[in-house]
Amino acid sequence: MSQILIAEDEERIASFVSKGLKSAGYSSMHVTTGRDAVDLATSGDFDLLILDLGLPDIDGFEVLSTIRSTGVTTPVIILTARNSVTDTVAGLEGGADDYMAKPFRFEELLARVRLRLRHGDTGGASGAEANVIGHGDLSLDLRTRRLRVGDAEVDLSAREFTLAETFLRNPGQVLSREQLLSRVWGYDFDPGSNVVDVYVRYLRKKVGAARIETVRGMGYRLV
Ligand code: CA
Repeated sequence: MSQILIAEDEERIASFVSKGLKSAGYSSMHVTTGRDAVDLATSGDFDLLILDLGLPDIDGFEVLSTIRSTGVTTPVIILTARNSVTDTVAGLEGGADDYMAKPFRFEELLARVRLRLRHGDTGGASGAEANVIGHGDLSLDLRTRRLRVGDAEVDLSAREFTLAETFLRNPGQVLSREQLLSRVWGYDFDPGSNVVDVYVRYLRKKVGAARIETVRGMGYRLV
C-alpha cells in the first residue's frame, strides 16, 4: 500500500485529505511543521508528499529544496492558496511535480495523487490501483472517465463522474449528503445546498433510477 505524507497545518484540510485518502485505499501520515516534513520525507518511508506552502516554521518551498538537495526523488504535490498560483508555478522549478490551488475538491487531488504514484511505480505493489471500478453491470473507467451501464456507454459531466466514482467505491453503503458533498464538491461547500440531490437525480437518469436508492433521513446507496 502506498504511504503518503501530508504536511499541512490546517487541521480541517489535513483531516479532509487523510480521510479521503483512506477511503481511496491509501495510508497516510500527517505532520504540521516544515521541519517534521523534512525529517519524514527524507526517511525513505513515503511514496508521495502532499506539501502545504504556508507552514508555521519553514515554508513549503524550503522544505522542497531541502529534501531535493538530499537526493530525495519522492513525488511532491504542493497545496497553495489560489491567489499565489503564479509564485507556486515558479516554485515548481524547485522540484515539485504538481500543485493544487486551495480550495480544491478531494477528487481533483486524488487524480493527481494517482497519476504521480503511477509515474513513480517501479513494478512493486505500491500504486497498482485498478483503472476500472464496477458494481453489478456498472463499470467506470477512471482513465477514460467513461461509464458503462450493461452494454451501453454513458457520457458523464465532471461532477457526475466524481459522484458515480464515489458510489462505486462504496457499493451497498449509505452515503450521507454531507459525505457526498465533501467528497464531490469539497470541504468549503455550503452544507445547506441541495446540489447533492440535484446531481443524484441527474445520475439516476443515466444509470437507471432504481440503482441509487434513497435511504430516508440518511442519504443514498448504490444497490
Ligand atoms: Ca497552511
